[in-house]
Amino acid sequence: MDAADSSTATPPPQTPGEDRHGALALVNTEFSRPSGPYDGLRDAESAAAWLSGRGLTPSGVRIDAGELDQLLELRRSLRELLDAHLSGAAPGTAALSVLNGALAAAPAVREVRWEEAGPVAAVRRPAGEPVGAALTALAEDGVELLTGPPSGRLSTCGAPGCTRLFVRNHGARRWCSDRCGNRVRAARHYDGHHAARDRSA
Ligand SMILES: [Zn+2]
Repeated sequence: MDAADSSTATPPPQTPGEDRHGALALVNTEFSRPSGPYDGLRDAESAAAWLSGRGLTPSGVRIDAGELDQLLELRRSLRELLDAHLSGAAPGTAALSVLNGALAAAPAVREVRWEEAGPVAAVRRPAGEPVGAALTALAEDGVELLTGPPSGRLSTCGAPGCTRLFVRNHGARRWCSDRCGNRVRAARHYDGHHAARDRSA
């Protein structure tokens, strides 16, 4: 990877909710911005780095072309389902099938571990398929976003051209980031300034 590649690969700041919700972060790896489209999962290397960076796979786990396709298909499906949830429309059946397929692929088994401080609830996933387990974990988080407590606070960024999703941490929040909020305020200021100049001309 050369220097130009690594600068374009710099991930944007997380939107509210991405830290807790892998499915939200997955959907937000693809978005448009003023300088053009951004894709944080444009090849197997960047996808493997993204999965391990979020702690979804052990570091060093590689992903093959088929697994990359599955991850991108899950991202497309989650985007469609979350958009449908936000707009009140019904999603396509294919998107739902992809999510439900990922849920069934490597389901976690709950278990109790007895540590020094006492019993701790844990989950165990099938060994030997780390990427499949990561996809199932992402799908499970998608269920939480669609049906759990954060579902009512899910939002699309209100800045023109921005497609990123976030979970509102307070009721009035409308932008995915300070950058988008500042961009909208700057555009309003510019429009107002030009309207005033046109009137005086
Ligand atoms: Zn935004």
